[in-house]
Amino acid sequence: MADIVQIAPHGGVLIDRILRGDGLADALDNAHRLVQVVLSDQNLADLEMIANGGLSPLTGFMGHADYESVVRDMHLTNGLPWTLPISLAVDTELANSIKEGDEIALVERTESGHRIVGTMEVTEKYGYDKQAEAHYVFRTTEDKHPGVANLYKQGDVLLGGPVWVLQESERALSDFPELRYTPAQSRTLFAEKGWRRIVGFQTRNPIHRAHEYIQKTALEVVDGLFLHPLVGQTKNDDVPADVRVASYRAILQDWYPADRVLLGVFPAAMRYAGPREAFFHAITRKNYGCTHFIVGRDAAGVGKYYGTYDAHYIFDEFDPIKVGITPLFFEHTFYCKRCAGVVSAKTCPHDSSSHIVLSGTQVREMLSRGETLPEEFTRPEVSAILMQAYQNPQV
Ligand SMILES: [Zn+2]
Repeated sequence: MADIVQIAPHGGVLIDRILRGDGLADALDNAHRLVQVVLSDQNLADLEMIANGGLSPLTGFMGHADYESVVRDMHLTNGLPWTLPISLAVDTELANSIKEGDEIALVERTESGHRIVGTMEVTEKYGYDKQAEAHYVFRTTEDKHPGVANLYKQGDVLLGGPVWVLQESERALSDFPELRYTPAQSRTLFAEKGWRRIVGFQTRNPIHRAHEYIQKTALEVVDGLFLHPLVGQTKNDDVPADVRVASYRAILQDWYPADRVLLGVFPAAMRYAGPREAFFHAITRKNYGCTHFIVGRDAAGVGKYYGTYDAHYIFDEFDPIKVGITPLFFEHTFYCKRCAGVVSAKTCPHDSSSHIVLSGTQVREMLSRGETLPEEFTRPEVSAILMQAYQNPQV
């Protein structure tokens, strides 16, 4: 175990901005007297991941120079590749009550009121160009794009500066706490298992046979598989996180070797920024200790905003040494009746009449009608969970 050298976090140091120890009680007490900034779902997820090192090397919400450099040039000012702005937007009125140098309280809105989760030293307060951010990051300025719509709804001023987390959010305490490994925890687990090479898998979907095939194909060439479904905010028509995670739990017991797979959850919110977000998903998994990362076609996208291979091409725009983690690019895969297995256009010579391919819409319609999905498409355990979710959407 001691001889395992793990992949370095992005930027070399795993950041830890969780305040512990003697100062914590005073810091919490003091935070009640500060100006309070209520965090969005995305801010809350970003804060959790800054603090636990998932967004290393960031120690807070981005200042102006890093923000501009990331938006326009896909690098932090220190030269490290980074593709999504991690910013804290507030409306102008609130911004006017905060001076550079002030400490503010970061607050979660909860059912019972407000909960202070952290503090931030506001080192910078700056305006930004939402249209430009949309154009560069999302490659569209259309507000039909869910990520762009969220951006346009944000406040007009950004606050930058280092953060401290004082206590976990109610969300972190209630949503899959037993699977919410921090990067330090996943790294320890990988070392204990003796894994040197670990492939990470990001998803916001339930698991179908095509995903299982890709995961197991990747696992053939590494030591361990880190299944890491995203559980932060997604758009309303995505499959809810609890259904997504339940589908993984159902399948792990009988179909995956327990000593080769770890299931965790990724707290991030989806932006739907396609290639830039696929890249972000890779470098953040490096922080969790992954050496390899699966990048499918159309990864992290939405609608028709991105080319089908854009999430692969974006890796060519960076120095692979600085990226550090190795992307594994996959095609769409599907069951072929003649091959009698899951295949892709790369591996199967037969035409589409032999293939079992269902669109997301077809899947939803079948489940709403109470029809089980074909076993070649989805394992029955998963079908049953999806059907229950579609028949009782509130449950
Ligand atoms: Zn075939």
